[in-house]
Amino acid sequence: MDEIEKFFKCPYCFEKISMLLDVSTEQMQSYIEDCEVCCNPIQISYSAEPGKVKGFVANKAQ
Ligand SMILES: [Zn+2]
Repeated sequence: MDEIEKFFKCPYCFEKISMLLDVSTEQMQSYIEDCEVCCNPIQISYSAEPGKVKGFVANKAQ
């Protein structure tokens, strides 16, 4: 599986965090993952092309 480590700011605590994103499929992906700092649920949405993340968005899940 092809993965890229994406760095971004948590929408709750504004800490810089990173997540591993699967870029092996070009389909739009959307899921919820907890912040590693404040443990709030973050809605992650992105699409990908081989080796690259496109249109990454991280929002509060509620
Ligand atoms: Zn956080």
